[in-house]
Amino acid sequence: MADVVYIEIVSIMALPKWRHTKSRRNKRRMHLFIKEPALVVCPKCAKPVLPHIACRACGYYKGEEVIDVLKKLTKKERKQKEKEIAAKEAASKRGEPRPEKSGRDQEKKA
Ligand SMILES: [Zn+2]
Repeated sequence: MADVVYIEIVSIMALPKWRHTKSRRNKRRMHLFIKEPALVVCPKCAKPVLPHIACRACGYYKGEEVIDVLKKLTKKERKQKEKEIAAKEAASKRGEPRPEKSGRDQEKKA
């Protein structure tokens, strides 16, 4: 009596027209696996910096000032920063231990 009627439900979904290559897929995914950058310690101010790049905190690279760090600061910030730098230089003159140089510099001496 009770006839069961099956209705086939076909979901219509958008499908990509072309297959993407493994290369293209991997290139898309490479941003998911970005590594933490390898940092070195700035010999001038002892802050972590990227190797072969001028320090953003003190503006020094290879012992030379290449960026004027104080230029873009406001008067108040500049005063504070100058104080900070002076305190750091005074500390280094007193002979407090400074961070060790990177391994590459030590290799050159040997
Ligand atoms: Zn620095």
